[in-house]
Formats: sequence, structure tokens, C-alpha cells
Amino acid sequence: VSPDEFRELVAGTQEIYAGLLDEHGGEVADYIPSLADVPHPDAFGIVICTVDGQRYSIGDSNIPFSVQSTSKPFTYGLALEGSDPRSVHGWVGEEQSGGVFNDPRLSLTIDGKPQNPMINAGAIATLALVEPELRIDARFEKVKDMWTSMMGLPPGSDTTTFLGERETGFGNIGLANQMAGKGMLHPGRGGLVSPQEAAELYFIVCGLEMDAHGLSGAGATLANGGLSPFTGKQVFTEANNALVLSMMDHSGMYNGSGSFRNRVGLPAKSGVSGNVVAVVPGRFAIVTFSPRLDPAGNSVRGVRVCEQMVDRFGLNPYRNL
Ligand code: GLU
Repeated sequence: VSPDEFRELVAGTQEIYAGLLDEHGGEVADYIPSLADVPHPDAFGIVICTVDGQRYSIGDSNIPFSVQSTSKPFTYGLALEGSDPRSVHGWVGEEQSGGVFNDPRLSLTIDGKPQNPMINAGAIATLALVEPELRIDARFEKVKDMWTSMMGLPPGSDTTTFLGERETGFGNIGLANQMAGKGMLHPGRGGLVSPQEAAELYFIVCGLEMDAHGLSGAGATLANGGLSPFTGKQVFTEANNALVLSMMDHSGMYNGSGSFRNRVGLPAKSGVSGNVVAVVPGRFAIVTFSPRLDPAGNSVRGVRVCEQMVDRFGLNPYRNL
């Protein structure tokens, strides 16, 4: 990204940010107290991070949040790195689920296989593939190491959110049990299947804490074919990185994935804390943070930023041909 292009991007980002400051639509997530009572429901930050490590932040780019569902594509990438697409997709599907992210009926196929890695069941399944023979602490370290390799600094942990997730996690524990019951949850240490542990690791990973500035390093890694501009590490092979992007493209924005794809056309993932990562492959990542969500669970401002960036800079790969 040339200095001129970057300057234009910055100017556009500033205008889009200013134009959306008065947008207060949407509701914060309310399923756990730490999200329902978030001290800054109207926070708003945007970060642009290029594949060559140029970064521009505006607004609340330093407020920490739990990564939540935005962990899912990265966990999927990590599972692919430890194995191969064929084996991974023996445990998790690659189709749109047609249900909400935690749907107890539509998350699993008739065989008990999660529809894709972007929904809760699929994230539990892909986490179960990360170093299954190690203890949970070492497995969590693996996940954290991946984030550090992308961002160049380690994520934190939001323990309050983790405890809230675990306390209210009946649905997720239920999904893990259903998968285990069908023989569709990869066994862990000693060949034992532990749905409880699988769900627990999922809750911990949802509670990984970072800010928009940090998360943009992970987005830029995806934009850069899996190579982190900040650590120089090839975190995902190009082929695995492409699978991650493709999965985000069709299922990254909950039940708003179709309309988002029609309006924006970029691979993206959102989390219920109000973060969004959108990727312009080969160029840069757009990361936003703004906790108010639309009915599908996507940050209202985050979606608007993506739409406006795409329109302004001609980023939709299906347009401007
Ligand atoms: N932690 C949430 C749950 O399991 C999902 C997070 C999200 O969708 O961002 O219900």
C-alpha cells in the first residue's frame, strides 16, 4: 500500500468515523453481565492495518474487549495448521448453517457434525482439534501463542467474561454433549472425550482480551496470506489462510452473512462484544469496535463502516470490474 494510497485511506476513515459518531442504534449483548453492563456502550473505534504494517487508529481503539466469536476463524486456522483440511473437515462441516450461531437444532447435521467452524458448535469442535493430547492449560497456551504471533503482543484474558460464559453456557455445553454423543467430538488426552473440557476451552477463548489496535494485527495477517506483518511469522499457510477467509466470507457475520456479503463482499467476522474484522485480501484489514449490535448480533457501526469503506474505495471484489 503506497504512502499516497494510505493517506487516502486515512482521510476516508476519518470522514466515515465522524459521520457515524451520532449513530447510536442497536443494543449491547445482554446474555452475560460483563457485556450487558459494558461501561462504554457508545464507544467507537476504527483501525486500518495494511499488509506492510502501516496502521491508523481513530477513536476508541485502545478499549479492551473480549474477542468472542471473532476468535472462531483464527481457531479454525490453527486447527488446519495442526492437521490438514480433510481431517479437520471430518469433524466440522463447511456449509452455511441456516440457524443462529448457537442454534440447538440447526448447528449440527443429522450425524452430529457442526455445520461450519463459525458457529459455536463448530468452534468447540475445532478447538478440540488443537493439540488434543495436551492438557487444557497447554492447549490454551497454543491458542494464545497463535494470537501473539499475529499481533506481535499477547492477548489478555477477561476472567469475568469467562466466568459469565461458563455460568450461562448450558447451550454450548449441550452442543458439546450432543457432538460427543454422536462420536463427533475429537477425543482428548488418553483418548477420552470430554465435552465439559471442550466447552470450557471455548469459553476461555471467547474471553481472550484485546483492543481494536491489537486485533488489527490479526486481521492484517489474514490480509497478508497468513504472514504477520508484525512478527514476520507465517502463522497460516497460504492455502489454510484462504480457507479461513472463504469461511468468513460465507458465514462470518452470523445470520446477517448473506446481506453483508451482498452489500460489502469482503470476508469478515464479528463478535458479540461489538468488534468486527473485515479483510481486503492482499491490502489491509479494517477493524472496528462499537458495542451496539443489530438483531443478527453484528455491530451496527461496524457494518456501516464496512459498507462505507467499500463504497468509497471500490473494495467490493464483485464491483468495479
Ligand atoms: N460467547 C458467545 C456464546 O458462546 C458467543 C460469542 C459471539 O457470538 O461473539 O454464546
